[in-house]
Amino acid sequence: MTEHPLFYDLAYLKGMGPQRAAWIRDELGLVSFHDFLAFFPSRYLDRSEVYPLQSLDEGPAALQTRGKVIRIEKVGLGKAQRLVATVTDGHGWLELVWFQSLRWVESAVKPGDEYLIFGKVSRYKGQLQMAHPELTLWTEWTKSGGASLSPVYPISEKLKQRGLSNRWWISMVQQTLEQVSGSIAEILPRFILDAEKLPQRSEAMKHAHFPESNEELRTALRRFKLEELFFLQWGVLRIRSLRKIRNPGHRLEKVGDLFHDFYHRCLPFELTDAQKKVLKEIRADLKAGTQMNRLLQGDVGSGKTLVALMSMLLAVDNGFQACMMAPTELLARQHLVSLTQFLGDLPVRIGLLTGQVKGATRRQLLEDLYNGDLQILVGTHALIQEHVRFKNLGLAVIDEQHRFGVEQRAMLWAKSRIPPHVLVMTATPIPRTLAMTRYGDLEVSVMNQLPAGRRAIRTVVTPEAKRLKMFAFLAEQMRAGRQVYVVYPAIRETEDQDIKFLYDGYEAMIRAFPRPEFELAVVHGQMKGADRDLEMQRFVSGKAQLLVATTVIEVGVNVPNATVMVIENAERFGLAQLHQLRGRVGRGSEQSYCLLMHKDRPSEQAKQRLDALASTTDGFLIAEMDLQLRGPGDMAGTQQSGVMELKYADLVHDGETMEKARDYARQIMEADPQATGETMGRLALAYDRFYGKSKNWSKIS
Ligand code: ADP
Ligand code: MG
Repeated sequence: MTEHPLFYDLAYLKGMGPQRAAWIRDELGLVSFHDFLAFFPSRYLDRSEVYPLQSLDEGPAALQTRGKVIRIEKVGLGKAQRLVATVTDGHGWLELVWFQSLRWVESAVKPGDEYLIFGKVSRYKGQLQMAHPELTLWTEWTKSGGASLSPVYPISEKLKQRGLSNRWWISMVQQTLEQVSGSIAEILPRFILDAEKLPQRSEAMKHAHFPESNEELRTALRRFKLEELFFLQWGVLRIRSLRKIRNPGHRLEKVGDLFHDFYHRCLPFELTDAQKKVLKEIRADLKAGTQMNRLLQGDVGSGKTLVALMSMLLAVDNGFQACMMAPTELLARQHLVSLTQFLGDLPVRIGLLTGQVKGATRRQLLEDLYNGDLQILVGTHALIQEHVRFKNLGLAVIDEQHRFGVEQRAMLWAKSRIPPHVLVMTATPIPRTLAMTRYGDLEVSVMNQLPAGRRAIRTVVTPEAKRLKMFAFLAEQMRAGRQVYVVYPAIRETEDQDIKFLYDGYEAMIRAFPRPEFELAVVHGQMKGADRDLEMQRFVSGKAQLLVATTVIEVGVNVPNATVMVIENAERFGLAQLHQLRGRVGRGSEQSYCLLMHKDRPSEQAKQRLDALASTTDGFLIAEMDLQLRGPGDMAGTQQSGVMELKYADLVHDGETMEKARDYARQIMEADPQATGETMGRLALAYDRFYGKSKNWSKIS
């Protein structure tokens, strides 16, 4: 097969040459003609408007004006010598100044010539002037029809130093367009272009580089954003659709004795409406005959564990095994405890498998698992090791998803000939645009309701100046029998003097809360696992009243007696992370507090963010705010997701376009769920060519 001309190596571009092509490849990762064209300008100089001289004022943006040179003369001596031309249009005046290439300018610019003048206006001794302007004879300008927006490419410094100027780049893009314009085929379905009133791909490509007007540019960019998001969505929806067809699922139709008994006899409280809704969704999935892949997003404390348990009981009622996987040893143990408590005397055999379960206990456990004696297995990553064999795994629950990679999910699948149903749970609410991307291939359930009777946590933004007051408050709470967390952004001293660190804080806390009245515990990420567990256990059991920690306690720790969360240097954390930390308190019946400590003069933006957090406990709202304020780069779950590879669109500003793209993709998918038609074939080809390669992350779920 001959290669598509768009994918020729850049070295074959006329005027490029292998050396420059190599530089560009190394610096910017652009390899083919298409890569080169897909490298859009980062901004455009507005050359559509010619401002009258009279209207000019100094300003940072280069602009165009028009005037006739009436005088040109050398002024100053030696190094200070310069050339000054005076131009006018009969109404306004402007001085043009050159400090270099005087001889050349002198020979080229003559009194009486009329020019289109382009440059930045500044004021010097009260006089408006433009230094080193770009001049085009007015007659030539009008002959050429007048250019408009001129592109500025984000060429790296290194390339510029090697002589690859913006002007050269422009000529290369023109050259590329000339060589391949016939090969830029349309890849979006016709009906989308019509509905959105968008230009063809080849035309839009030209407009994106050399637009004649702002309107043309906007439309071209809109097209590429939609194109990109469309293929992104089409890709994930195709996976979902094909998976449904290809992967049969265990049919779990029965609601049996265990579920009934649990619901009517063991359940210590009424389910929230949100829990009921999600359970209904899960039940529908489980009996559909296709494999479930569902993401359950539920804010901290919304009661996901219970939903997981009841789903697992459904599996057991239908004669299958179930497992629940947590990201840490501690969490796995905690799950085992809460599940066992919930189950009471129900006849369900449940076990724990972690790295610390060893020897004979482990052997027995694995045997019971293999012969089916064990019905529910709780554990860590240890669950997915190869030698762990189930008799018939029907449902796998994964808690706190963002710590698991897709590979691990895939390994779970391999545990059963027919892949098990998968329920992924996360307490990190994710903005919708991100969810559609990162988890676009999953069905999504949302629990945005906390169990009734919870007291809202009181969040107080506290400046450094009130530290002593804070100490007094902690003492008061601990004397009343409550427990307290104090979280630091760093373990050790950093270069940044403003950052409080754990070692220092621990000492201060010991001084402020001495033995024997108070006991302190400490956990951080650099401790050995066993030491950490021990310290954590001292806090969980109530032996220690105050826990000094880093964000290792962020996920899942459940100590209902803890009522105060103090976060040092709160301005250093993302909103979503602060929200997670705050979720560690407010789990019991007592009023809980979250104190956001910050340095005395925080930036306006930092203050705003903390106030925003204090004003709401809605995790979804907070996630949206975090995305707006910090961009997707810092959001949980985006790092390994490939989301950052978006070329044209971005998740913060293009949410609406994303919704649209998803709708179009869905329409197409629904019309041809088997993906066998001609449209699908064409889309698949375009996807592989233009969008598929770097998006491996979406291939397995
Ligand atoms: P998360 O969603 O953060 O994992 P958990 O499952 O740990 O939340 O639940 C938090 C607490 O709420 C637990 O103590 C749990 O027993 C309790 N809980 C769960 N569902 C309800 C309910 N419907 N009514 C009252 N309390 C509930
Ligand atoms: Mg949980």
